[in-house]
Amino acid sequence: MRAVVYRGPNTLQLETVPVPPIGHGELLVRVSVCGVCPTDIKKIHYGTVPPPRVFGHETAGTIVRAGARARGFKVGQRVALHHHVPCNECHACRHHAFAQCEQYKRTGITAGFEPAGGGYAEYVRVMPFVLPGVVNIPPRNSFLEGAMLEPVNTVLKGVKRLALLRGDTVLVAGQGPIGLMFTRLLALHGMRVVATDLIPERLALAREFGAARVVQIRNPNPAPSRITDHASRLSTLITKLTGGRGLDAAVIAVPSDAVVREAQGLVRGGGQVLLFSHTKRGDPATLDLATICVDEKDLIGSYSADFLLQAEVARLVFSRKLDVRRLITHQFPLAETAAAVDLAAHPTAESLKVVVAQEQ
Ligand SMILES: [Zn+2]
Ligand SMILES: [Zn+2]
Repeated sequence: MRAVVYRGPNTLQLETVPVPPIGHGELLVRVSVCGVCPTDIKKIHYGTVPPPRVFGHETAGTIVRAGARARGFKVGQRVALHHHVPCNECHACRHHAFAQCEQYKRTGITAGFEPAGGGYAEYVRVMPFVLPGVVNIPPRNSFLEGAMLEPVNTVLKGVKRLALLRGDTVLVAGQGPIGLMFTRLLALHGMRVVATDLIPERLALAREFGAARVVQIRNPNPAPSRITDHASRLSTLITKLTGGRGLDAAVIAVPSDAVVREAQGLVRGGGQVLLFSHTKRGDPATLDLATICVDEKDLIGSYSADFLLQAEVARLVFSRKLDVRRLITHQFPLAETAAAVDLAAHPTAESLKVVVAQEQ
């Protein structure tokens, strides 16, 4: 079969590799669609894991072989896959901290080599411990929609981290695919969303997704000492919207420390700032810690998916309450996976979610 193999930093090669053999308790899935995820881009660019690997973990496709002990699965079933599934028994799982569970950290889907998702290949092997994460795609929904379950799950998990009441005012900084999903889910939960981004096209979609207000940012890295034009516009708007109280929460869906500091200033005492895009280690930041201690503003993070939310995520996506089709702007054939990764890493005004889609 054809697979796009990671051979070192910034090196993705289309190669011919064996179709992975499956065990009795496993599935072989023919991949239709695999989303390009920022966490994979980071691994590919910075070479944070050793090659060779086949990346791609936002995968939807068709079961073409089912082991005798993979009960409840049939050849021909259209499915969305989950590459991480928690054990539900360990200390981390009992604390609901699934992303810290040792089993969860293992990747249960592979196209060969060290398991890394495998979605940038024609076929993937699905191991027994991730079978509970397999979701059926309803007949009316597409593989494209199925491939979006994993990213939507990570966003819904982030939303659930926030202690919000209906009608609360929430800033979503950054309206890339993730920020737009936050905007939509928060709006569906009855929140008043203020959406910011550099790109007007994204703000237009944020409005359609339910943002109450949108603010275009003109300077992505404002000097901390200088009150910039957008910062004053944004804080004036928020003061007006909340009667001077401040934001109830802010979601930071851009990897900018300046935006975190700004948000920490804009939330009310006892509010929350949620980090979603600060995934690169080793960059310490400065922050006035008294805003956390004295003002009781919680600075929290959310990473990866929550397995228990899977059914709710499937309902949101397949009912199209969150219409993920609006977010998928570019589809690349398997042979052009490197170009897909490149576009996702350097988004344009028109690009949002980029996927690799294969002819069936
Ligand atoms: Zn992902
Ligand atoms: Zn566990």
